[in-house]
Amino acid sequence: MPPSVDRSQPPFRLPAGSIEVITGSMFSGKTEELIRRVKRALFARQRVQAFKPRIDDRYDKTRIVSHAAAAEGAGKTLEAVAVATSESLEQRVEDDTQVIAIDEAQFFDRDIVDVAQRLADRGLRVIVAGLDQDYLGRPFHPMPELMAVAEHVTKVHAVCTVCGAEASRSQRLISEAVTVLVGGSESYEARCRMCFEAKEIVK
Ligand code: ADP
Ligand code: MG
Ligand code: ZN
Repeated sequence: MPPSVDRSQPPFRLPAGSIEVITGSMFSGKTEELIRRVKRALFARQRVQAFKPRIDDRYDKTRIVSHAAAAEGAGKTLEAVAVATSESLEQRVEDDTQVIAIDEAQFFDRDIVDVAQRLADRGLRVIVAGLDQDYLGRPFHPMPELMAVAEHVTKVHAVCTVCGAEASRSQRLISEAVTVLVGGSESYEARCRMCFEAKEIVK
């Protein structure tokens, strides 16, 4: 960790740390937007570290991958490190890192909020992407807490697979009554408020 800033001594300008949250339903482009921001930071020759929660990966080295259609091609993945806890994420932050990218933040423990705050207080730019709602349309903690302390919140939207309207919800297509069910288009689809059905068993 770099030494903490002495606010009583010049230069008085502090490093401008901040928290940015990118949120919305599944397929809304959260990961695409996270990758876009990271690539811009890399163009600016900033040192970036990307993390995701370890859900079922056995390996630490992993990638952040968007649902981008195959036709949209490459460039939609990012090298990342999978960590089991927010504590382990914080420990892996290197001294010269300027930007932290975190995907699927809804799967982290609540301490991720304090970790993001500490990193931003130290002058890092922390960019966090995650689902704002679970499969029943309930706030998906700790995203609400992250949104509350963030300087910037961007809500992105998918297209409702039923009616084509702007989608804000993730419809679970299979009957599993657990909040954490990792899956893609075989298990979930994007729906608008009108087409979304908040129930345990859909089919
Ligand atoms: P998220 O991280 O929010 O789940 P991604 O960035 O992984 O989203 O994927 C966004 C991409 O998903 C879109 O650019 C598009 O190619 C694809 N996609 C698939 N289904 C939909 C949908 N119903 N609405 C919008 N985009 C969709
Ligand atoms: Mg994503
Ligand atoms: Zn709809």
